[in-house]
Amino acid sequence: MCAVTAGGGRLVLWDVDRTLLYVEGVSRPVYEEAFLAVIGRPLERLADMAGRTDRYIITETLKLHGVSDADPLLEGFYSALGRAVRSRRDLLRERGFALPGAEEALDALAEVPGVVQSVVTGNTREIATEKLSAFGLDTHLDLEVGGYGDDATVRGELVRLARDRAQRAHGLDVPWERVVVVGDTAHDVAGAVDNGARAVGVASGGSGPDELREAGAAVVLADLCDTAAVVRALLATTAVGPSRR
Ligand SMILES: [Mg+2]
Repeated sequence: MCAVTAGGGRLVLWDVDRTLLYVEGVSRPVYEEAFLAVIGRPLERLADMAGRTDRYIITETLKLHGVSDADPLLEGFYSALGRAVRSRRDLLRERGFALPGAEEALDALAEVPGVVQSVVTGNTREIATEKLSAFGLDTHLDLEVGGYGDDATVRGELVRLARDRAQRAHGLDVPWERVVVVGDTAHDVAGAVDNGARAVGVASGGSGPDELREAGAAVVLADLCDTAAVVRALLATTAVGPSRR
């Protein structure tokens, strides 16, 4: 028997950067510190970060510096990135903010029965947790589950992991059509639709509305300012079909 809760379980997976919050000018110093700590020389070039996972960014950045096998260095990098971001909590608050409507959207969804909210983000779990807590956005997000940039290189894999973890932790059976990813880039959208999950695009960051739609977003919002519209979009794209008997 399926353990679907009354009204149908739903899993809402939020992207972090430029979907829920905005931070400018912190990644570079964090990466510089971690790179120096792990590699022992200064960072010269940083790989493209938009919509990418930390694992991918580390791997590509190392290639730019002539290091072809990143795997043995990844754990050390994740720890160094975590230390570097933890020591910059004040800088995070100084250079960032919660995007308008993000907190209200999280609050509103927390009131909907059967909804579990977590994240699928390119950030490592530690960095995501630091950022979200810096702006008070972690209250309704289950960060014990989710998919993170230290789990895999490809977004689609993070979405799969996030669903597996949420199902195990919450005793839910959430079919893919009741999983929705909310994100600002075509990478976020592709990570959802590649698995058969739904995607809601928010044109507040990396990709424009057309790009998000072309990637497969069922709905594209300009931002999260209209809480009722956000909730409507997330519930409509994961609409509960005929009840299971
Ligand atoms: Mg993003």
